[in-house]
Amino acid sequence: RTQKTTTSASSSTVTIANLGKDRVIDLDHGDPTMYERYWQQVGDKSSILIPGWRSVSYLSDPGNVCWFLEPEFAKQVTRLHKIVRNAETEGRHIVVGTGSTQLVQALLYALSPQDAKEPINVVSAAPYYSCYPDITDCLKSGLYKWAGDARSFNKDGPYIEIVNTPNNPDGTSGQAVVNRSRGTLIYDLAYYWPQYTPIASPADHDIMLFTVSKCTGHAGMRIGWALVKDLEIAKKMIKYIEITTIGVSKDSQLRAAKVLTVVSDSVEHPKKKEESFFDFGYSKMSERWKLLKAAVEQSGLFTLPELSPEFCKFSGKLFGTQPAFAWLKCNGPVEDCEALLRENKILARSGKHFGASRQFVRISMLDREENIGLFIERLSKIRIEKPM
Ligand code: PMP
Repeated sequence: RTQKTTTSASSSTVTIANLGKDRVIDLDHGDPTMYERYWQQVGDKSSILIPGWRSVSYLSDPGNVCWFLEPEFAKQVTRLHKIVRNAETEGRHIVVGTGSTQLVQALLYALSPQDAKEPINVVSAAPYYSCYPDITDCLKSGLYKWAGDARSFNKDGPYIEIVNTPNNPDGTSGQAVVNRSRGTLIYDLAYYWPQYTPIASPADHDIMLFTVSKCTGHAGMRIGWALVKDLEIAKKMIKYIEITTIGVSKDSQLRAAKVLTVVSDSVEHPKKKEESFFDFGYSKMSERWKLLKAAVEQSGLFTLPELSPEFCKFSGKLFGTQPAFAWLKCNGPVEDCEALLRENKILARSGKHFGASRQFVRISMLDREENIGLFIERLSKIRIEKPM
């Protein structure tokens, strides 16, 4: 079957052959449903029973500076980082948050001077994660304000730079770009796990953020953690979480501790018939990226970032980052890649939300198998016919 439509992006005519199943595929959000299959295979080993008397108190660990941190969760976070060797935990305070989204907010609060005349500038190198500007500016805070692309930031004074590596949306690995003395860096390492990217060495920054959402796929638990060197910064973050939500769900922390235990056990005590968690994630991502690259080549209409291979000390493999998102560029006459994909019943997020042009679009690669399969099939069949 061949179908002809006209894009609003350009006056070109787009031909889609053999559409197959006709439903809309929503790959706008990075919803990590790919991981459901692993956890279904694991079965009851990752279940916990929480008796009714549990989690009555607000407090989890009154002696700890982070008094709402469940000790078992903290233990499993440290254990996993030691096994994967992706972050130093020695000499760091663990601050748990309702997702790393809350921890970004807690950090902006903690790092902003309280008595400054002007709000502190917050920057990140474009293309940046689209939630950074939203989080920074949603309350029009007097403490901090979004100042855009770190590469064009040229103001004097203190600033906060968020470094996301590997980067959402384009998968590149990077360092800070502003590099002035009065800056504070937040390293968002949500994707620094071996299913996505080679682990070259343990990250050793003063402020690092992680989340179960992208590590184990449990985005609905809403659990993230920060590794923070400076006690005063950690205390201010804890104060922010106390003011906004009086701590973080204990039930979620207990569940997170359990799934992290299962992940670590799958690496340390592999069972014959069971796949280790990171092997599962790595092979899924690798298969998907192979298919996507072939489809992009076949269409001739799109390009993807080139991500060069590096040696992964965790897996012993040499590979290039296989990001959680495809950062797709439409070439030729197409000016609005999101509109082109929408007309082909693929929903994705336009480059404009990431400080980039509409020629780019971000597509989640973490969705369920059937959606990713259908998306890749549709993409390979998109053609542009030059107008007469
Ligand atoms: N940072 C980055 C770079 C992300 O991609 C995400 C999720 N999309 C988050 C932080 C937030 O994750 P969560 O709040 O689910 O922990």
